[in-house]
Amino acid sequence: MDSLERAPRVGGASAKPLHLCPNCAAYVVAAIWSERVSDRCVRNIWCCEACGFEFETSAYIPVKPISN
Ligand SMILES: [Zn+2]
Repeated sequence: MDSLERAPRVGGASAKPLHLCPNCAAYVVAAIWSERVSDRCVRNIWCCEACGFEFETSAYIPVKPISN
């Protein structure tokens, strides 16, 4: 088993940014849909389990500096 990259951890101290529902301010931990918009942009669709509100965010992946 080598699936350590995304262990769900709710309620504990975590350095990961959590999204807050814009409607009811509950924590939303899992995206229901991820869409790759471009090489460096991913759009995530989130659904609040508490109230059912859906919203989306865009994540921009920074360009890695070429260390040479
Ligand atoms: Zn909500």
